[in-house]
Amino acid sequence: MLQNLINKIKTYNPNVDEDAISRAFKMAESHHKGQKRRSGEEYIIHPYHVALNLAEMNMDTPTIIAGLLHDTIEDTDVTYEDIKREFNEEIADLVDGVTKLKKLSYQSKQEKQAENIRKMVLAMAKDIRVIIVKFADRLHNMRTLEYMTEQKKKEIARETIEIYAPLADRLGISKIKWELEDLSLRYLDPDGYYKLVDMVSKRRSERLSLINGIISILYENLSDIHIHADINGRPKNFYSIYKKMHFKGRSFDEIYDLSAIRVLVENIKDCYGVLGVVHTMWKPIPGRFKDYIAMPKPNKYQSLHTTVIDESGETFEVQIRTYEMHKTAEYGIAAHWKYKEGVSKSTSFDENLTWLRQLLEWQKDVNDPNDFMETLKIDFFADEVFVFTPRGDVINLPEGSTPIDFAYRVHSAVGNTCVGAKINGRIVPLNYKLKNGNIVDIITNPNSGPSLDWLNIVKSSQAKNKIRQYFKVRDRDKNIVRGKDSLEREAKRLGYKIGDIIKDDWLEEVKNKLKVSSTDDMFAAVGYGSMSVNQVMAKLVDIYHRENVNVKTVDTSNFQAAPKKKKKAKSGVFVKGIDNVKIRFAKCCNPVPGDEIIGYITMGRGVSIHRMDCTNIAQNDDKSRYIDVSWDTGESGSYSAEIEVRAVDKSNVIGDIANRINDSKVELTSLSAKTTKDNVLIINIILEIHNIEELGRLIKKLKKIKNVLEAYRVSA
Ligand code: MN
Repeated sequence: MLQNLINKIKTYNPNVDEDAISRAFKMAESHHKGQKRRSGEEYIIHPYHVALNLAEMNMDTPTIIAGLLHDTIEDTDVTYEDIKREFNEEIADLVDGVTKLKKLSYQSKQEKQAENIRKMVLAMAKDIRVIIVKFADRLHNMRTLEYMTEQKKKEIARETIEIYAPLADRLGISKIKWELEDLSLRYLDPDGYYKLVDMVSKRRSERLSLINGIISILYENLSDIHIHADINGRPKNFYSIYKKMHFKGRSFDEIYDLSAIRVLVENIKDCYGVLGVVHTMWKPIPGRFKDYIAMPKPNKYQSLHTTVIDESGETFEVQIRTYEMHKTAEYGIAAHWKYKEGVSKSTSFDENLTWLRQLLEWQKDVNDPNDFMETLKIDFFADEVFVFTPRGDVINLPEGSTPIDFAYRVHSAVGNTCVGAKINGRIVPLNYKLKNGNIVDIITNPNSGPSLDWLNIVKSSQAKNKIRQYFKVRDRDKNIVRGKDSLEREAKRLGYKIGDIIKDDWLEEVKNKLKVSSTDDMFAAVGYGSMSVNQVMAKLVDIYHRENVNVKTVDTSNFQAAPKKKKKAKSGVFVKGIDNVKIRFAKCCNPVPGDEIIGYITMGRGVSIHRMDCTNIAQNDDKSRYIDVSWDTGESGSYSAEIEVRAVDKSNVIGDIANRINDSKVELTSLSAKTTKDNVLIINIILEIHNIEELGRLIKKLKKIKNVLEAYRVSA
């Protein structure tokens, strides 16, 4: 066996360290002594075949030694230190890496978990050669699976087809991918597999003479134009036919590329030369020509593909590539994330792929496989960590995540009641940094809650959001009370009786308008500060006006003041830095002397004067159009002001008000009134006044009138 292995390695690496290979073989043989495989053979048969598989892939010496020793740490008394002493740290690390992968238990039956496991395998491997040893190991185990129990067969086949075959595909090692798939299918669906084998072999024998005829005529035509080529018929792997039939619903007869003819040539020029010959000999089927030489697949696969049809109507696929391309296609270590599988993309992984692709470029220039393999250390998913739930589901989290992140990922209730954690059965602190492959068990206490300190410990934004959410919800009751209070205070401040404006059905309406799910949520939002009290109050005031207006119009024509001449000779306002400017008093707030005011430069209409507290001022952001203004106190002009009076709708209250205004020597411009459903009279009065003190005195007087409830200045 040993000599056979060394001979095999020598075919591609004449300078192999025979002594090292020999020592590794003997170490494995002596330590596995007495162990038997299920087939009854000596155990050494297995590591020997694993090493042979690695040699088949032209792997370097350390990888082959690791293949020979791959089961020793796990199954014999050999330790990491022993291997390190006998060989070196590199080889010990490789064996250790394979041992760790073996401990990954693949229990989950969910397909979505498979992708996570594949990522975890890559993340744990650290060195891509570990995965390649794992492929070689799995390949031999699959080839000898018949000795296992039925249940074990299915388990291993399932893991192979869901985890290892896709990984081989991504790394571009299609030869291993195909064999792993076909072997798995044989155990997962034996009936389907053997039926397919039968159909394919029948069809193949039908086609065999056809293919052979094509091959020999193609040889002739190529030698005519001096292209040296190797041509053979390539059977498609069973699983890819099976997939087309079972997952794409194609019938067996519809799959016409059951076998392909593969033409291998020396260089790219010859590839296109062969293509020209093929297309003149047979008619190409439109849409079936693919130039993967000009446009390589993401895993570096390069080839020309075309499907042609002969005179008898038989179709067949022809693949044309160089020997170099062929090697890459079968054994290349390349990436395949997005191809075929639509896996969500990870930026850092893509960066690693770029790097891997570069490695493939170098591989062509590097003659010593050791130099190449030396650089094959991988650092996939450096920003992610993959851990298990006790049930075997894989969860991926940002690097540096803690058991708290894990707990919130499982469920927010688990996170909120998390008090401790066990990693692989041992208790760890909550700020423990999770490592790949950890089995995480969260200890909960239903009476416990999260701590604000956790915000500094957790890494995932999901955990952060859920912790914040918890505190928001926990303080909800307080926020509701706080929100209600501020709404009532605001109502009072605006001069409303609370019962008049804060009504349940109105609150319902407001909450719908504000798109909040309940009135309590609305109060809580106000209390929490995510909604302003004004947002709610303004809507309530709207409803108030809608509900109270035009119930009954009061005839106020007797109190309407006669139009009078304006006697405002001057504006009564100084505008800073400007003389002779046109002044207007804004209708929205009707400023009177004594009010704090500000000027707003209008387009072509001079400066309009607003009260400082006017809502229109607060809403306008264009500060450049504001200008400082002040009252000219020596001026005795008059100004419009509006007041509103609320009174019980009793006889003559309007008359009383009008008389009182008249007594005060204040000029009445207009007066209008309306009554609400509950018999409250609302009287709006516009006055000409000289200053704010005068207005204040008048309001005080009005309030003293019998049946008057409220009197206040308003602004539109
Ligand atoms: Mn093994």
